[in-house]
Amino acid sequence: MALTNCVRCGKVFSPEKITSVCPDCIQKENEDLRKVTEYLRDYPLANIMEVSDRTGVFPAQILRFIKSGSLRITAAPDAYKCRMCGKDVKKGTLCQDCMDKVKELKEAVKKKNKDKKKHR
Ligand SMILES: [Zn+2]
Ligand SMILES: [Zn+2]
Repeated sequence: MALTNCVRCGKVFSPEKITSVCPDCIQKENEDLRKVTEYLRDYPLANIMEVSDRTGVFPAQILRFIKSGSLRITAAPDAYKCRMCGKDVKKGTLCQDCMDKVKELKEAVKKKNKDKKKHR
């Protein structure tokens, strides 16, 4: 059987099935995949750098998951979801309702700050 280098640790091993990771790393690999999948379930539009940052999984690793088909990322522009309520939006990160809400909140904060100044 042909020998191959583990893409994670570089160890030479003979794969029993088509895999690029040695038996020692398979468990770590599955763990990484689980973490990334879970993160993307909560934040479907997170980019790879962000996912890597939050999960501690290397970007190259995440790319490999995507390439191998183990991981699917949401990239279609029509698949945006509002980051606040999860409603589908055409573009951007917030739906109209939440955008209005955020605006109101900002206005409220502004007003509060103004009131504070007045009392001084
Ligand atoms: Zn390995
Ligand atoms: Zn919303």
